[in-house]
Amino acid sequence: RDAAAPAFGPVPRRSTRQVLVGKVALGGQAPVVVQSMTNTDTADVAATTKQIAELWRAGSELVRVTVNNSESAAAVPRIVDKLAMMGISVPIIGDFHYNGHQLLADEPACAEALAKYRINPGNVGFGKKKDTQFAQLIEFACRHGKPVRIGANWGSLDQALAARLMDENAQRVEPWDAGRVLREALILSAIDSAERAVELGLARERIVLSAKVSGVQELVAVYRDLARRSDFALHLGLTEAGIGSKGIVASAAALGVLLQEGIGDTIRISLTPEPGASRTQEVIVAQELLQTMGLRAFTPMVTACPGCGRTTSTFFQELAQSVQEHVRAKMPEWKITHPGAENLTLAVMGCVVNGPGESRHANIGISLPGTGEAPAAPVFIDGEKAMTLRGEYIAREFLGIIDDYVER
Ligand code: SF4
Repeated sequence: RDAAAPAFGPVPRRSTRQVLVGKVALGGQAPVVVQSMTNTDTADVAATTKQIAELWRAGSELVRVTVNNSESAAAVPRIVDKLAMMGISVPIIGDFHYNGHQLLADEPACAEALAKYRINPGNVGFGKKKDTQFAQLIEFACRHGKPVRIGANWGSLDQALAARLMDENAQRVEPWDAGRVLREALILSAIDSAERAVELGLARERIVLSAKVSGVQELVAVYRDLARRSDFALHLGLTEAGIGSKGIVASAAALGVLLQEGIGDTIRISLTPEPGASRTQEVIVAQELLQTMGLRAFTPMVTACPGCGRTTSTFFQELAQSVQEHVRAKMPEWKITHPGAENLTLAVMGCVVNGPGESRHANIGISLPGTGEAPAAPVFIDGEKAMTLRGEYIAREFLGIIDDYVER
């Protein structure tokens, strides 16, 4: 072994100012927080409440809703009340663009019910109105004691700032490329707006920053720069990540690099849901990203081999899927009755090639016999062979073994 090789261990986190969003701590050394956003019409109180409850049950620790008109602003306190009646106290964040200053002025109950405001410095106002409207938003945050996320976005960059930086760049002896100028505009938009908010009286511990782009390499470069130039808590997310596996892979690639460098205090995976798919997928992906990186634990981790020519029946895949679904469904109950269950490791393996070895590394593992071999599946518990399951009820019995283990 190479004695100079670094040992595996917890990923050190960058130190940031801690922000409280409702009762959820974000930044400092708090665990990286999972958040998501609804895609219902916020004015539809029933549909939005239902989706927030689904996201919360899936594990979203903060939920953002669009607040884009007076109907949605009026709906926010009603949604928060309904959630409270359901026993759900997840902090709700209001996403404002263009008219947030007006909506918060017209609906003080909305300003009070929200746990945080998201402000986009690229569209808070234009020309002379920008400074006034930004100041009004910060004033509401100060008055109601709310934190603010200053969220710059590549798709709605502050055009005046970008034009100014372009002009300044033209005077440079060695001009930057256009991409670097725009990146600088995005970062400055976030940092300068945060400093302006501090001047207006908002505490640094009430500010979260984000600067989202849709390209993986650009996002990594932008956040490395943001982390170097400020100590505000950072919200990470690859904006417009895309649909299906592309969105998942791109988000995991970008956020994985940054989290590994200790950058990021809360994450959102912005997936375009496939038609008919649940919005909760983005929460599960965020949790799985944090858990596979060893940053947090949410649900027992299931290791399964990919299967090959030795597993031509579908039983192996079905068992792996039912184990995953079973533990995910049980986790909300186990979280209360058996805290620590989320740290369990489980293995479902297709045959004897890697099955017994991998199963011994897990708390509970099963090694199926592969196709055409004797239908006997040894089960390993804490590294020891505990029993062999046979017959048509292997799946049911294996789930029972997992439940018994958690119970004990
Ligand atoms: Fe194939 Fe067996 Fe390896 Fe699974 S453990 S991939 S079934 S050889």
